[in-house]
Parts: sequence; structure tokens; C-alpha cells
Amino acid sequence: MQYYNLKHPQQTLGFSHAVMQGLGKDRGLFFAERIPTFSDIDQLLSMPMVERSAKILYPYVEQDFSQAELLQLISRAFNFSAQVHAIDENIATLELFHGPTLAFKDFGARFMAQCLREFSKQRATPLTILTATSGDTGAAVAHAFYGMDNINVVILYPKGKISLLQEKMFTTLGGNIKTLAVDGSFDDCQSLVKQCFDDEHLVQQVGLNSANSINISRLLAQICYYFEAAAQVKRQRGRYDDLVISVPSGNFGNLTAAMMAQAMGLPIKRFVAATNVNDTVPRYLQTRHWQPQPTVATLSNAMDVAKPNNWPRVEHMLTNHIVDANCLTSIAIDEEQTQIGMRQLNQLGYISEPHASVAYKALKYQIEADEFGIFLGTAHPAKFKDSVESILGTPIGLPKELADCATEEILSVPMANDFAKLRQFLTSK
Ligand SMILES: *Cc1c(COP(=O)(O)O)cnc(C)c1O
Repeated sequence: MQYYNLKHPQQTLGFSHAVMQGLGKDRGLFFAERIPTFSDIDQLLSMPMVERSAKILYPYVEQDFSQAELLQLISRAFNFSAQVHAIDENIATLELFHGPTLAFKDFGARFMAQCLREFSKQRATPLTILTATSGDTGAAVAHAFYGMDNINVVILYPKGKISLLQEKMFTTLGGNIKTLAVDGSFDDCQSLVKQCFDDEHLVQQVGLNSANSINISRLLAQICYYFEAAAQVKRQRGRYDDLVISVPSGNFGNLTAAMMAQAMGLPIKRFVAATNVNDTVPRYLQTRHWQPQPTVATLSNAMDVAKPNNWPRVEHMLTNHIVDANCLTSIAIDEEQTQIGMRQLNQLGYISEPHASVAYKALKYQIEADEFGIFLGTAHPAKFKDSVESILGTPIGLPKELADCATEEILSVPMANDFAKLRQFLTSK
């Protein structure tokens, strides 16, 4: 399989190079040259998740891995489950937060880390994963690469601007995970990272890779849990031909993966792309004008994105009829509706958090009587303990993953908002 740059289709790369490089020329995204399809979906769904995922992903990576290697790599990456949990007769949630950092980003980050671990073996010098985080991504990336030989991870975060628990989830590991508390905002952190990637000499010298959500390997991993959802729904209900999937969307990577699953033959009837008030996409689908507005802070902060970086991939699938445009609707849910959704779910006996609630409310507006809806649970409610407790008025416990790191010591080092200092840090190891 070759991957080509959506901005410069003549630029094509194999899987390993697309993963190592991240972005193509002019910051173009890579996309699979063709989408492999499977005809016997029932047979696929009868397989266990790890074996099925290896089968689904093999055509995408066959130049770089044998089937046996891929199976082993996936069994290390997906060492936790995705679970469909019934909410009422025609709605269920797909819980994607049973991984080590309690968010769906564990799937993509762990698969990417396992791929890079293999690719870095061919290098004489270590790879450096450099990423800026305001919370979830940093934790998923740190845990996914922790303890790997020949890979260093450097994570920048805005000092004093993330919650203590969030901070503890990635700053307490040590080893090959270096964390820098930057004297600045999240935007400052991102701009420092960007300056590093613009420095070609530095990129070569320390083998820089950002591991961010535009990396094709992260998307591929996410295709797998849509098949798992259908497999569980089939076991629970005997059918899965009426599925509506509602995705709480920020950068639209998760929606891209859902669409790819459908293009591969999984019979998803349609998609609901749910956003918070950062509603560039729902407005675009109505007006056909792409008019991002300044980002607004919300309860579902991982979706506070005005310029979703995976959108060109969605657009590509729609304009090339890889996915029927009639299959996609997009709805924005405001802060009040988000809170109402959490309370409604609580009344149905289910404790949720703001991101999933946005998807739940959008699904409720959309779903028809003859459909079965699944909204994605992208994070564990305890990750948003403060807002969940204040909205629901009940205390919630900490799962083991969070309780464990809460008592650990923060190992991050302070860093000025200064590119020269960061450069020095990266090259002095
Ligand atoms: C990252 C994230 C999202 C948004 O996912 P995208 O793939 O960027 O659309 C939603 N919910 C949570 C909890 C997240 O961490």
C-alpha cells in the first residue's frame, strides 16, 4: 500500500515512511491510495479483536510487516478492551477508555508507538518524539512509548495551566519520558514545537517525530474498534445493519476512522459528527463556507478546535464518493445541552463526561425509530472529575490508573518559552 499527499498527489510513500514523516510537502496529509475491502464481514466479526484487527490492517502495512509481526504488534498495542454498554433499547455507548490513560487516544498512540519501535531499530541514533499537550495526548503518548529503547519522548505543557491529575498522568513516569513545564500558554508550547519541526537540521539530527493525531498510523488503529463495536452489537442483538455512529469530534480523526471502516465494508448506516460550540464543520456542511472562528473554551475541552486538522481527509472521502455524503450529518451541542445530556444519562443509570454527552445529545436529536445508535465514550468520567461532580452533584471515585499516579512525584523540569533553550535541551542528550 502506498500513501499519497492529499495536497501533492504525486508525492507517495510506503507505510513506514508516512509514519516516520507524519506530514507531507506543504503540510499535506497522507491518505491510503486505495481502501481495502472485506466481503465476509460476519466472518470477520466472529474473530477476537486482536486477530481481527491484524486481518483488517494487514493490507495497509504489508510492505513493512509480516502477518505474524503485525499480530504481535497489535497484541501489545491493544492490551485492553473496547466495550459496548447498553443505555436504553435503541442506544448504546462504545467505551473506549479502558486503556492505561483512560481515553480513546491510547488505541492510536499505542499502535503508533509499536510501529515506531520497529522502525527505530533500523536507525543508528534514537528517534525523538516531540509533542505539546494540554492534557490527554501527552498522557497517551508518554505511556505508549514508555520504556522503549532507541526512542526518547519530550512533552511540552503549559506550566500551571492543566489540572494536577492531568499533569501527574505523564510527568511521573521518568525514564525515556522527559517532560518540560513551559513558562507560557498551550499555544506557546505548540509554537515551540512547530519551530523545532521547521528546523530541518534539528529534525535530522535528533530524528524528530510529533506523534500527533494527523499521523496515519493513529487513524488506522482507530478503524479497528468500529468493527469491534459491530461484533458486540451483533452478539447482543443478533443484527447490526441499522447502526448510526455518533462521534464527539475535535480534530475529526475519530470520524475519519469510522468512515474508513464503512468504506472497508462495515455496514454503518450513517454518521453523526457531534461538536461543541466550536462548530466550524456543522456550519460548513450547511453553508458550504469554511469559516473558522476563534476557539471557545468548553466543558468538552479536547474538542475545543476551530480548525480541525483531519478535515481534509473527510472531505477527500466525501468528494471522491468513498463515503456517501448523505451518510454524514453534523450537529453542534451547546454547554447547557451538554450538561443536560450528562444528567439524562445519569438518570438512565450511566455516569458520563462532557465529550460523550455531546455525542449522546447529537444522537438523540438525530436517531430514527428504526435505527440503533452508538455514541462513543472517548474518556473515563474520572478524567473530568471536577466538572462531572459539580454537574451531577455526586462524588465519583478515581480508577486505579489515576489513583496510582496521584501519589507519585512530578519529574518535569521548568523551561523558558525560548526556542534556543529548547533546541539546546533536545541536542544535549
Ligand atoms: C481527542 C479527543 C476527542 C476528539 O477526537 P478527534 O479525533 O480529534 O475528533 C474527543 N474526546 C476526547 C476525550 C478526546 O481526548
